[in-house]
Amino acid sequence: MTVELAVGNVSRAFGGVYAVRDVSLTVPAGELRAVIGPNGAGKSTLFALIGGQLAVDAGTVALDGVRVERRPAHRRGIGVVFQAARVFHGMTVRENVMVGAHAITRAGFLAAALRLPRHHRDERRIREQAMVCLDRTGLADWADRPAEELPLGRQRSLQLARALCGEPRLLLLDEPASGLRAGERELLSDLITRLRAEGLTMLLVEHDVAFVMRLADRITVLDLGRVIADGTPAEVRANPKVQTAYLGV
Ligand code: ADP
Ligand code: MG
Repeated sequence: MTVELAVGNVSRAFGGVYAVRDVSLTVPAGELRAVIGPNGAGKSTLFALIGGQLAVDAGTVALDGVRVERRPAHRRGIGVVFQAARVFHGMTVRENVMVGAHAITRAGFLAAALRLPRHHRDERRIREQAMVCLDRTGLADWADRPAEELPLGRQRSLQLARALCGEPRLLLLDEPASGLRAGERELLSDLITRLRAEGLTMLLVEHDVAFVMRLADRITVLDLGRVIADGTPAEVRANPKVQTAYLGV
């Protein structure tokens, strides 16, 4: 089940300076939207306002018309992959994903982190669910390997697997391609394309314009906390405001 995301006139300031100012955007169900902009444009702040890691100063966040901006992050049904997120060391790939599944409840998360014994039936269900998520992200063969042994590209896939295991209605990705080599980027973009084909609504925050040009249905461009352009990749590429503000052309 996947939903429409509607962000309405959202603002957030730090110490009197706006990081995000009066931003509105609507992502129809099943669309892959990219949010691009130079460093400091407010992309990660917007991500956190939608995901619930940060509170809005003003404005609304709605999923299929239901306001969620006052709900805590774990009750929004949004899967998140944070910028430069790390995998859990000292756990296998499968355990990393199981933490995601357990994370639906706070008690479950603690139990998983501490490896407390759990009800056998729950444990088996979660293990099976974890394998489904690993399969979806091409990591099934790596399930029993220590997570820190995965190459960086596969670690990103693992972040995605963990987010997907929470059965999100919307998936947020903050610069998932950063630091990846060309081959790894290709793998990641294939994976994102596959999730798009499954009909998942996604918001992909990126610094790298090239990475999202082939991938996104539409692109929203932020600069200094405001939306300066919104359109198809071709429209955005041709927009003079984007070229000056972002591409420095
Ligand atoms: P981006 O992800 O596009 O690079 P950010 O959302 O991280 O941009 O940052 C936008 C602006 O808000 C920057 O000027 C940054 O310094 C500021 N900012 C972000 N988070 C905080 C914070 N927690 N405290 C103070 N300032 C912040
Ligand atoms: Mg950022």
